[in-house]
Amino acid sequence: MYRTHTCGQLNLSDAGKTVTLSGWVQVVRDKGFMIYIDLRDRYGITQLILDEKLSSPELLTAARSLGREFVIQATGLVVERESKNDKIPTGEIEVQVSVLDILNAAKTPPFTVVEDTDGGDDLRMKYRYLDLRRAPLQRNLIFRSNLALETRKYLADKGFIEVETPNLIKSTPEGARDFVVPSRMNEGQFYALPQSPQTFKQILMVAGYDRYFQIVKCFRDEDLRADRQPEFTQIDCEMSFVHQEDILSTFEGLTKHLFKTTLNIDLQDFPRMQYDEAMRLYGSDKPDIRFGMEFVEMTEMVQGKGFPVFDNAEAVIGICAKGAASYTRKQLDELTEWLRRPQIGATGLVYMRVEADGNCKSSVDKFYDANELNAWKEAFAAEPGDLVLVLCGGLEKTRKQLGELRLEMGSRLGLRDPKVFAPLWVLDFPLLEWDEEAERFFAMHHPFTSPKKEQIGEMLNGNHETMKNLRADAYDLVLNGVEIGGGSIRIHDRELQSKNFKLLGFTPEQAEEQFGFLLGAFEYGAPPHGGIAFGFDRLCAVMSGYNSIRDFIAFPKNNQGRDMMIDAPSAIDSEQLKELSLQIKPGDK
Ligand code: ASP
Repeated sequence: MYRTHTCGQLNLSDAGKTVTLSGWVQVVRDKGFMIYIDLRDRYGITQLILDEKLSSPELLTAARSLGREFVIQATGLVVERESKNDKIPTGEIEVQVSVLDILNAAKTPPFTVVEDTDGGDDLRMKYRYLDLRRAPLQRNLIFRSNLALETRKYLADKGFIEVETPNLIKSTPEGARDFVVPSRMNEGQFYALPQSPQTFKQILMVAGYDRYFQIVKCFRDEDLRADRQPEFTQIDCEMSFVHQEDILSTFEGLTKHLFKTTLNIDLQDFPRMQYDEAMRLYGSDKPDIRFGMEFVEMTEMVQGKGFPVFDNAEAVIGICAKGAASYTRKQLDELTEWLRRPQIGATGLVYMRVEADGNCKSSVDKFYDANELNAWKEAFAAEPGDLVLVLCGGLEKTRKQLGELRLEMGSRLGLRDPKVFAPLWVLDFPLLEWDEEAERFFAMHHPFTSPKKEQIGEMLNGNHETMKNLRADAYDLVLNGVEIGGGSIRIHDRELQSKNFKLLGFTPEQAEEQFGFLLGAFEYGAPPHGGIAFGFDRLCAVMSGYNSIRDFIAFPKNNQGRDMMIDAPSAIDSEQLKELSLQIKPGDK
């Protein structure tokens, strides 16, 4: 028997027992007369001790030969510790070792396998098996596993069936680039890896499965960021004979269930906001509503007073940062620089402080007198000690930039506590988005999203301008400013779906070639249906107060899309290339 207990199990009630433990050596502290070994497994750490006076020379030699991360088995007596450690559950006891076996030696690890490691990102990715031994990552993966389990429990309880859909498919247009896989048996042809099981889950509704879910890998060939991976996991769901309201309540229920069962947090009913309102008040379709700092539109109020920058702007919008009037000139300059970085792209920042006596001082005092600044103060309900920050320019751009500034100020003022959870439904997204440059419509959610029922006629018969005003039964679930889920009520009618493809620039032939199967299915009795997908990795991260989803994926890829451990992607040999009818051009590697 390798072990009678785990390294996280023993406590005072076990004193007097002879036990056997197996695990990894975290650290050996050799005090001469006494040797201490911290033995670790995924359940915890137990202190082993060897007393020089009581142990055989062989045993002492073995203990002194141990290095970090050796795998050992130790048998001994559980005794009460003299100096207790109240930070760990096993801190009241230790094990006096009488037998010690080295099960496997280990090279010195390239970084320390402790709570806060000293390893850099790439090194930790290369030796992921060592990184994964660390307690934070183990906690994260255990959390993830529980979250998946609770998801399955909740959905199964609501009558959902888990169905697997294929990974080798034809491309699904979710707006990203596809990963493709060459087909050996069909020369010159390619599969695509699914960006989501969207069309398959809709087909399952046509097939009468009524309530489907799947915890599923999705693949998108996009540029990577901390919260993006080329392969990621969704909780993907679809329901038949439902309205938007049924979906919102089912998945609000799921979210509450997950918070309750994994974090013991009771979430209140989720507030709802229209897309237009979110853009107007927060400049974002995924507002972080842990704090207010809502936008105030000042355009009318500030124009015509001789300040050309405001006069020439389509929009002048501001926020009020509570208690930030103490910001120094230097801090404000630095904030302006931050806004001017290409990532944000603002041209300048106007500010107004409300001083302790209630007087206002602004960076544009030359153009606005005390009365006018007072009007600003009122518009923001600003109080002494507050700082009003104003941006101007094109409406959309200004909203976006101010949205970023709002988040930045929220962070700087400590208003974004990761332990506070503020869910929000954002509803009524536009159906289509007009792209000026490409001179075409894009689907705001995806091409299968239905317009609002009352607008179907307009969509079928309206003109170009009408299309810009179409709204969809499309919804996002936002948590602390992160989009964790999104979905829509779908089109289930061939004619309407064909019209949508047409608006999106597909010729009838292209639509048929790419989506003939779905259009065909719609002719054989498609029920009204809709669904949603949660970004599972993101949900894990936000619930745990992390920014990066990498800490919740066992084997993630780095920013270049590489798996540093297995060293992928990699070249394949010429035989394989030939078999796949792929040629590398001369001169290419
Ligand atoms: N397939 C969609 C997505 O991946 C979700 C949905 O509409 O259900 O965003």
